[in-house]
Amino acid sequence: MINYTERLTLLMQDIVARVPTLSFIDIADVLVFARSGRSDAEGAFATCHCLTLPPSEPGYYFWRDRTTQRITRRSEWFVTKSPVVTLGSRPVKYLISFALPRFSDQSLDKSRKERLYPGAEPWIAKLDTVIHELYHIDPELTGIRRIERGDGTYSANCHGHRFFEQVAEMVHTYVHSRPNPDAYDFLRQDFSTLENRYGGVVGTSFRTFPSFPQRYVEPVAVQVPCEADSEGVSVEPLRVAQMPTRYTENDLHIRQFTKKTSRRLVRKGAFRAA
Ligand SMILES: [Zn+2]
Repeated sequence: MINYTERLTLLMQDIVARVPTLSFIDIADVLVFARSGRSDAEGAFATCHCLTLPPSEPGYYFWRDRTTQRITRRSEWFVTKSPVVTLGSRPVKYLISFALPRFSDQSLDKSRKERLYPGAEPWIAKLDTVIHELYHIDPELTGIRRIERGDGTYSANCHGHRFFEQVAEMVHTYVHSRPNPDAYDFLRQDFSTLENRYGGVVGTSFRTFPSFPQRYVEPVAVQVPCEADSEGVSVEPLRVAQMPTRYTENDLHIRQFTKKTSRRLVRKGAFRAA
């Protein structure tokens, strides 16, 4: 079977070695994982998730009375934090997820990318997505890259208006660097072709599938009064989802993805006593 996330990781390795704008990226800081996404459903092809954002400033939720507009209750103070993912002793800084089979069935035809690649082969749309996600990695490795406007201020939108052209320029830089076709050939096939050729498509996922490491809320240890507090305002404990906040390589598993579903693969003999 073809391990799709492994192929993507190797491709990214080759891309950052050949595209100067992305040469600051060490792929050992990045973990690629697979999510499910049907080819006939709307949704992202891939997403870049940053794990290095610092905790937020403390905050709270509050509720107002509809008629008097007065605050009637609020939550405890909380902060939002990034989960910690480590492989061996090394913390992972970014996760990049790919939706399967949707990503591998992506084509240039009639997509908004078409104008950026006139006459190009359809699989270039997938290479565009891979480079797009790498370009979201901030050169300081402290968040999602901020896009500078012409006047030196930063855009609130992480894509800015030149983002897509810049990605297309990097796609051309990569292709013109004459990479070994072994690095990207798997992008040429759609999902069914890969299944037929390799007998199945697998990828790394988290044990918590379909969930994966995401920012979480944590009550602040020392709760102080806030300006909203007055007589009759009740403070409610936060309802915190029971999700792991630390992950290691033991929380990763291999899943097989099919057109409609996915299942965890258990290695033969994995439960046999030695
Ligand atoms: Zn994006």
